[in-house]
Amino acid sequence: MQKILVKAGLFFVALVLVITSLGSNSSSASGVPFKDIKTTDEEIIYLWNKGLINGTSKTTFSPDASVTREQAAAMIGRALKLNGTLRKTSFNDVDPKNYASGYIQSAVDKGIVEGDSEGNFRPKDTITRGEMAFLLSRAFNFTQTGNVFFTDIKINTSSTSLYAAANKIATAGITNGTGDGSYEPNSELNRGQFAAFVARALNTDFRVIFKNVTIAELTVTADNLNVRKGPDASYSSYGKIYRGAKFQVYGYNGSWAYGKSGTLTGYVSTAYLAKSVTPVANTNKYVVLDAGHGGTDPGAVGHGLKEKDINLDVAKRVESLLKTKGISVYMTRSTDIFIPLASRVDLAKKSGGNAFVSIHTNAATPSASGSETFYSAALDQRALESKQLATFIQNRLYKAMNNNNRGVKEAGYLVIGSNPLPAALVELGFITNSTDASKLASATYKQRASEAIASGIDDYYKWKANN
Ligand SMILES: [Zn+2]
Repeated sequence: MQKILVKAGLFFVALVLVITSLGSNSSSASGVPFKDIKTTDEEIIYLWNKGLINGTSKTTFSPDASVTREQAAAMIGRALKLNGTLRKTSFNDVDPKNYASGYIQSAVDKGIVEGDSEGNFRPKDTITRGEMAFLLSRAFNFTQTGNVFFTDIKINTSSTSLYAAANKIATAGITNGTGDGSYEPNSELNRGQFAAFVARALNTDFRVIFKNVTIAELTVTADNLNVRKGPDASYSSYGKIYRGAKFQVYGYNGSWAYGKSGTLTGYVSTAYLAKSVTPVANTNKYVVLDAGHGGTDPGAVGHGLKEKDINLDVAKRVESLLKTKGISVYMTRSTDIFIPLASRVDLAKKSGGNAFVSIHTNAATPSASGSETFYSAALDQRALESKQLATFIQNRLYKAMNNNNRGVKEAGYLVIGSNPLPAALVELGFITNSTDASKLASATYKQRASEAIASGIDDYYKWKANN
């Protein structure tokens, strides 16, 4: 509603707010009293029907015309049924004969309006949207504040600040700002906006639900990050978000960002948010290593081992081996934390990497054993590369592990099936098989497996360079 009113490009005419409700009563057949407003301008019609607002002529309302401070005071005074008897005011620049003098003084007495530092009211000045926030929050006693962010109003914890006033009227459902995340406190408030604000203040049926606007989308760079109830580490957490998750920022409060990620809305520290994962130098050989499972998700368990620990141990070994080969590495996790599968894919996409290898450990009946490596043919454009990557790794892995070669297989696991990068998923061996498990527990074998995977990745990049 407010946006429509702002855009209406109507001719600017002098505003006449009448003190009585008599006057222009030329309602048309449609029930709309003015030719320059629509049936959807319910707030204006509501105020007009209550006798609180009038047109600028018999047939026009002039929603784009400006509102002066004296007009605003008179209208608020009428709406609140303040004493409008013309009288001397505490301001030098308000004539006692001014039609609004009584309302201005009543508003001063109630603490709704105040003059400038020189004791002037500036009755003929146009009222700004910022002034209106003060006026309405005081006049209608809106005191509640919420998580309201405007890009053009600095957060200020003082209850008498512009931020507090704008927050109060937004929280009360009087304004949604301009719709793009700003409030424009220094812009003139026009008649259409003024009517909308006052109608919403008077009648809850017209209220809006304040909605913050996403002003940035950032990526979580910490392994995990608390989404807190307030802008300080002392506030309790609604829950955690994980490395690679997207965080939609609604606003900033110091070094805290308020916004949303998935189902969680709250504050996170900006120290752990970035525009995107920083790509590393060597972009032609840059692999994303994904240690499967982690945190609350142990993966397969058996013979006193947890899959998540083996996967991470091997991934870290592969990481350091690759670096000695001049291959850059991005780790989806390097600690014992849980990362959802979709976030792993998001991380891979944002990392700038050009290959993806997920490391896992298998489980089945005790007799099953050996190594196998999966690729996905779900995305045509990288199916061949994925298969090559899986093959180079598998051809070295089973030999290094000195176990059963279960081969290269096609499967649609999420981290490889929905991944735009050439991707392979390695199953080192079976945690549920006693022979495999003893190797998976052995630093020697984990190192051998890591060398096989690192060399397989190196093979892949050499193959890529020649193809
Ligand atoms: Zn697994």
